[in-house]
Amino acid sequence: MLIKDKHFRPFLDHHQIAQQVARLGSQLNQDYAGKNPLFVAVLNGAFMFAADLMRHITIPSEITFVKFTSYHNLLSTGTVDQIIGFQTDLRDRHVVLVEDIVDTGITMTEILHEIRTFQPASVEICALLLKAEALQREVAVKYVGFEIENKFVVGYGLDYDGHGRNLPGLVILEEETQF
Ligand code: 5GP
Repeated sequence: MLIKDKHFRPFLDHHQIAQQVARLGSQLNQDYAGKNPLFVAVLNGAFMFAADLMRHITIPSEITFVKFTSYHNLLSTGTVDQIIGFQTDLRDRHVVLVEDIVDTGITMTEILHEIRTFQPASVEICALLLKAEALQREVAVKYVGFEIENKFVVGYGLDYDGHGRNLPGLVILEEETQF
């Protein structure tokens, strides 16, 4: 499959993803029963994952959205800038960060740092994908959909230069080139 100017091959189909999302949902329902968790979904990439995950959440909870600068800016600056910030009071809340993918872990480290300044009761990360081998920071990702190899993936909310977010499943870059 051609997305923009690169070739991708099928990786995880929507059914495989749905199974893991359902598993994560029931785990969260158990772990956060009686805690009224605040889910914080990180835009843009997590929009589809967060929407599907929330359909499995049956306990009282809330969801809000944050947005930070892009991956590319991040690589060059090493910091994240908020575009859409925290609009819900996080103090004493049980926060679950909902992220599409944890790669080097730099983004999550920065977001965690920011969140902790609001003094939440607890913070955990729920990521659909984890590139464990690419981690450069010590980030504990408690809820993981799939551990994947260190290759560039697109679909189910994740983009290649703005393209491919709409795909219901995930595709992976065919070339040997690593991201
Ligand atoms: P980290 O800071 O953990 O290196 O990167 C996290 C962010 O990088 C993700 O939220 C995502 O935007 C981007 N990213 C990392 N790996 C991939 C990938 O394989 N595909 C896509 N589309 N984005 C990725």
